[in-house]
Amino acid sequence: MHDISKPKVAVWKFASCDGCQLSLLDCEDELLAVAGAIEIANFPEASRRIVKGPYDVSLVEGSITTPHDAERIHKIRRASKLLVTIGACATAGGIQALRNFANVKEFIPIVYAHPEYIKTLGKSTAIGDHIFVDFELRGCPINKYHLVELVSALLNGRKPNIPTYSVCMECKRRGTPCVMVASGTVCLGPVTQAGCGALCPSYNRGCYGCFGPKETPNPDSLADWWETRMKVTKPETVRAFRGFNAYAEPFRKVSELHEK
Ligand code: SF4
Ligand code: SF4
Repeated sequence: MHDISKPKVAVWKFASCDGCQLSLLDCEDELLAVAGAIEIANFPEASRRIVKGPYDVSLVEGSITTPHDAERIHKIRRASKLLVTIGACATAGGIQALRNFANVKEFIPIVYAHPEYIKTLGKSTAIGDHIFVDFELRGCPINKYHLVELVSALLNGRKPNIPTYSVCMECKRRGTPCVMVASGTVCLGPVTQAGCGALCPSYNRGCYGCFGPKETPNPDSLADWWETRMKVTKPETVRAFRGFNAYAEPFRKVSELHEK
């Protein structure tokens, strides 16, 4: 039965791997603390129960890749008071946006035995390219503690306290030696939003940008620094920026510039 006293939270899936929804399921202990305060109204990965809208909060995972989804997202927006996109697919088009740099019509007959059944758009795009988004939660997948902070902030009518600074700040904070300085490893940390606790540099690997561009990044400067000081080639620079957030504007622009 629908409990009218509790805010209704709905979870929606578009083109994605479900990893961010799994992060949500992985929050069980933390969410139990807020579970009494909300009603999960739509979350197909967790339950078959569907409560009709309107919804107080919609969490949207995945990118827009089909004409049907391009229509569906508008219906969800109309049914939602607040709408938050979660993960690299929803906030930047995801790894599937790599096709945006090529002609998708060339791939379809190679991948599918019956290409005539495939209805797809030429590009994979972020939810924010189609509708107004109230907040974006970054990561591939998202950090489950960010999600708990987000839900708690929304329930209390305050701004979520999510970092917008770079992964380098997290590296310094945990005392991890810089992999670019120490071993000349390409690292996107200076332009990537914090949130993972500088996981990859702590294993002596460069960051590949799964949390997307930080606030006011300067990827042009980073790319020039790689190429002039670390002798990184232009194709290597392009590949470094073409990961999970390849179609996020700051990463896209710099990769297109160095492709020429
Ligand atoms: S390892 Fe990467 S994230 Fe860490 S300080 Fe160096 S450049 Fe920044
Ligand atoms: S260091 Fe970079 S690639 Fe690695 S988990 Fe963190 S944001 Fe993602």
